[in-house]
Formats: sequence, structure tokens, C-alpha cells
Amino acid sequence: MDRVVRKSRAGAESLAPVRRKTSRAEAERVVPAPKRAEARPAYEKKTIALVYDFDGTLCPRPMQEYAFLPKIGVDATAFWKESNRVALEQGADPLITYMHLLYKKAKAAGIRIDRADLVAQGRKVELFPGVEKWFDEIDAYIADRDHGEHVVVRHYLISSGLAEIIEGTPIYKRFHNVFASEYWFDAYDLPYPKRVITDTGKTQYLFRINKGVENLAHSINQHMPENVRPVPFSHMIYFGDGDTDVPSMAVMKKSGGHAIAVHGPGKSKTKGMELFKAGRCDFIASADYRRDSELWRRTCLLIDRMLADIRVEEEIWRLGRELARRPG
Ligand SMILES: [Mg+2]
Repeated sequence: MDRVVRKSRAGAESLAPVRRKTSRAEAERVVPAPKRAEARPAYEKKTIALVYDFDGTLCPRPMQEYAFLPKIGVDATAFWKESNRVALEQGADPLITYMHLLYKKAKAAGIRIDRADLVAQGRKVELFPGVEKWFDEIDAYIADRDHGEHVVVRHYLISSGLAEIIEGTPIYKRFHNVFASEYWFDAYDLPYPKRVITDTGKTQYLFRINKGVENLAHSINQHMPENVRPVPFSHMIYFGDGDTDVPSMAVMKKSGGHAIAVHGPGKSKTKGMELFKAGRCDFIASADYRRDSELWRRTCLLIDRMLADIRVEEEIWRLGRELARRPG
């Protein structure tokens, strides 16, 4: 775990371990689910998870384009072109290549960008219309319609972008957990990629949510029967915007989950149509997160179905328990 100087909530700087937002999830794992079920029988699979990609899904452009690239005086189009070229020439992973190139360029420009700078850059990131209010409104929509079932809604972010920039955005606190690429700031002369989340690597985090194994120190590879996984894929919706989301959407759809492909308002729907025709997503919609938008309406349709499913599943679970208790 990193030890870096960071601001506490009170604003004072302290030398404290940097913790990712796993605290709530970790706290929940203190009591293993099966044991709790024995002590007080209750149907526990009442969590709905909405999982978002970031760039192009919640914000219009790659997050590095809002502050990092302008600060080091690099043109965004030229940067991504060079990054892709270097990756191709070197046979390197495109994500590792961009993370390396960002800091190589910053160093060449004589500009040092540390963790705190990246967090500050997050405040410059533009979000699609309605994104800031979306989380509260979705939570309220579910609370109003769960028939007293106390369905829990969690929002997750899985991004190949930078965790530190995301931390600086106003929506960071709305996520139950954020899985994003991250740097090691004190390991080398240039910050070194600590975690790189590739397109296919994103799917690991879908399984972590599904199995309730969100602490990255714990292996995700152990077998867990479907019926004991706390967040079934059928209770999950993945929001993405393009080719980089194909592996995640494919996992969702093949596992009984849901996916929505968004496109920038007023921008081409071609990619979304391709994804829809290929069966990668349930719906496509413009990335307009305001209440009563097409995206809102289509998301709520899926939520309505999930809420009904949860009630049916709970009734079946109740009946199963009743029959198991009845002699003969
Ligand atoms: Mg994207």
C-alpha cells in the first residue's frame, strides 16, 4: 500500500496509507454471508449494480484531454496517434504505452505532475448532461418501487483511465467502488503503472462485483457456485460507449446481465447500432443522463424488470425454505 502525503477530509495533510474505495465492501465482508443467513434467515440477493465505463460514457472525451495534455502543451489527437503508433511498433500494450508516454512527455516539458495534481485535474473533467444528479435519481427511483424490500443499489466505475483524475471529479463519492488504472508515484524516476485496466481486464472486475470479492488482495479465481454469488449478473447493467467495452458487454450478455451502449448527444449512433445488432447490448441511447431522457427511460425499464425478478426470486427462495422445513 502506498504511503503518500494526502489531504484528509478536514483538509490537513497527513502521512496516511492511500486506501481505495473498498472500505464499505470490505466492511461487509467481515460477516460471511452464509453464516449471517443461518443466524437470521433473510433473502440477501437484493443488490442491483450499475457499472459504468468513464471516457465516452460519463464524460465526452478521454479524461487526460481536459487538463493533463493541455498542461504539458501536447495536442490530444497527436498524442493518441503517437501512443498507438509506439504500441504497434513495440508490440506493447496500448494502455501501458499511454501511461508511460504521458509522463515521458511531461518530463520532456519539464513539468512534474504528482498525485495531488492529477486529483486536481479531475475537477476540470466535463461530464455529460445530468450525470451529477443521475445517481441520486436512480437511487430514489429504486427506493420508490422496491415494495419495502430494501433493495440496495450500487454504482461502480471500471475505467482504463486514471484513478487519481476520477477521484477529483464531483461524482467520485457516488461510486461504491472505483476500479481504474493507477500509478506508483514513488517507485521510479517517472511514475510507473501500478495497475493497468485493459479492455479484457475490465471483465475481471465484473466478476469481482458478481462474487463480492472487491478487495484486490483477494484472488478472484476461486470457484464460487452461481447460487452463492451475492450480485447475480441478472442484477447488473453495464454502461459503455464503444469497442473497448465489447469484452465487458459480452460477459454481461452471456451471463444473463444487461448492457446499454451510449453515444455522445448529437453524435453518430453507428457504433451503438453495431453493438446492438451483434447482441452486445440491450439498448442504445444518447449519453443524456437527465431524468426522462431516453437513457433514463431505458435504464428504468431494465430496473423495473430486475425489481420484479428480485421479488420472484425471493418468493421462490422462501418456498424452498418452507418445503425444506416441512417433514415428508
Ligand atoms: Mg469509453
